[in-house]
Amino acid sequence: MYRSPVDDILYSLRHVAGLEDAINAGAFGDLDWDTVAAVIGEAGRFATDVIAPLNWPGDQEGAHWDDGVVTSPKGFRDAYQQWVAGGWAGVTASPDQGGMGLPHSVNFACSEIWNGASMGFALCPLLSEGALGALKAYASPELKETYVRRLASGEWTGTMNLTEPQAGSDLNALRSRAERQPDGSYKVFGQKIFITYGEHDLADNIIHLVLARLPDAPAGTRGISLFLVPKFLVNKDGSLGQRNDVRCASIEHKLGIHASPTCVMIYGDNGGATGYLVGEENRGLAAMFVMMNSARLSVGLQGVAIGDRAFQHALHYAHERKQGRAPNAPEAMSPIAEHPNVQRKLLTMKSQVQAARGICHLTGVAIDLSRHAASKEARDQAAERAALLTPVAKAWSTDIGDEVASLGVQVHGGMGYIEETGAAQFLRDSRIAAIYEGTNGIQAIDLVTRKVPLSGGAAVRREIAFIRKTAEDVAARNDPAFGATAKRLGQAADALSEATDYVLASLGGDGRDALAAAAPYLRLFGIALGGACLAKAALAPEADAGRVALVRFFAEKLSPAAPGLAEAVTAGAAALEGAEAALQEIA
Ligand SMILES: Cc1cc2nc3c(=O)[nH]c(=O)nc-3n(C[C@H](O)[C@H](O)[C@H](O)COP(=O)(O)OP(=O)(O)OC[C@H]3O[C@@H](n4cnc5c(N)ncnc54)[C@H](O)[C@@H]3O)c2cc1C
Repeated sequence: MYRSPVDDILYSLRHVAGLEDAINAGAFGDLDWDTVAAVIGEAGRFATDVIAPLNWPGDQEGAHWDDGVVTSPKGFRDAYQQWVAGGWAGVTASPDQGGMGLPHSVNFACSEIWNGASMGFALCPLLSEGALGALKAYASPELKETYVRRLASGEWTGTMNLTEPQAGSDLNALRSRAERQPDGSYKVFGQKIFITYGEHDLADNIIHLVLARLPDAPAGTRGISLFLVPKFLVNKDGSLGQRNDVRCASIEHKLGIHASPTCVMIYGDNGGATGYLVGEENRGLAAMFVMMNSARLSVGLQGVAIGDRAFQHALHYAHERKQGRAPNAPEAMSPIAEHPNVQRKLLTMKSQVQAARGICHLTGVAIDLSRHAASKEARDQAAERAALLTPVAKAWSTDIGDEVASLGVQVHGGMGYIEETGAAQFLRDSRIAAIYEGTNGIQAIDLVTRKVPLSGGAAVRREIAFIRKTAEDVAARNDPAFGATAKRLGQAADALSEATDYVLASLGGDGRDALAAAAPYLRLFGIALGGACLAKAALAPEADAGRVALVRFFAEKLSPAAPGLAEAVTAGAAALEGAEAALQEIA
């Protein structure tokens, strides 16, 4: 029943994010749009036919751990091998490394497709892609020579090892350590928790990127280095050598994404795991941030992906299930899809998913243009846009994924709460995306404290101008089918502008006001920009009545939250006065 939403993805890349225009302007050499469309179409077919059928059985079976060995659910290894054979690990890798050499935004589009088919499956490539990005940017030529090609082909997979029991959001508390060795390598020691695909049977080697401290490192995040620690050491001729001193002590039992192993990893029980420095000593976080930024956008797209799947599922059910007579219906029992309140739910799901997809695509294309735009000014502005939008893309989209999956359960009524319909799995799977890759609370803090102040607020002002201009374009269309869209989008832009002034002004103080404003500010940002994305889609020459109906619904039913959110922002920290009195633990 599930189909990868290829048409919607292509439409959004073209008409919302402007990828086709960038291609036609020559930003990507001789690449043409038809190639992009063909690749994404093929990804959709592969995901629909090969990966999506594994989603439910993979959830039910889950990954198994036995004495350090992790076995994937039935069918996963074969699907992964087919995925590798199809060249899907190398969408962005250059052709001389065996890749397709396509823009990152195309790979992000594919990432949505894999995640919609099965989040549990797609997490493995998602982490590998991040590891690959960090190695390409920071690894020595020798490390690149040994590892990059085989990660880019998918023959080996990658992981990201930040979290420790006492160090989650706060990496200052990190304790894993590394010791220099006479041959230039390092020995790595420590315990990491929650490591996605830290151990598995999909590929022959696993390349762990591990954050650890050197003995003489300064305290805090300025004393963290990044190490490449392979599961199997690699011989000079490229063949696999002895097993490294790293093992998976256990995997977690968790709410969702059962097919993906979440591992406790132990490094250095037997004299130290051999590791190689990536980048400079004590500068590991800079390299890890390369990995995290790409991963953050991919996680945002998990929210879009699971939201789209939950929507498709709910829509199908709403057409099948009959209850009660809808207004003006001829029969006593109407499909629930005809009841206005169910229509409201379904439109809330669909419009928010497409709005979130638009924000993610804007971010992805900005990442590409930060490298490929014609002028330095355009590249710099694109880099700022990518930086500004990454926390919004991650947090707003994953909050939406979660809300949409929950609405999907609601559309199913009692059957939604019963596992066999599948709606519950989407809710269980989507929940993690708001937590990992930096919780959504941490994303909101990043947005207000680091991103809004970029270039003295110029980057965020450009975004507000974009939203306002889109509202004006809707008004200029003068088409009654848009209803109050232009007015509501304009009000959302005003609300964001007012809230931005407040955030910028409050950063000068002790920061408490800005921190208290962070979450409603991010929510407001998503609503204002998401509305503009839907409007751009509806203004395109190819737009049909459905696109117009969707932006109108979003603008008239969901955008009115924007002025209220601005008020929540400007209420600052005063509303938290008395928090201590109100939140006293019961003795
Ligand atoms: C299934 C799964 C897969 C994962 N995969 C990986 C992986 O592959 N690699 C990896 O390294 N990690 C991974 N993680 C770990 C994940 O990134 C962390 O769980 C996450 O960063 C949050 O850290 P924490 O769990 O310690 O929560 P905490 O940091 O303890 O946070 C608890 C709560 O406090 C809030 N909070 C914390 N600090 C602040 C602050 N300064 N200001 C305001 N609020 C704050 C948080 O937003 C959160 O709501 C995974 C986790 C899970 C569950």
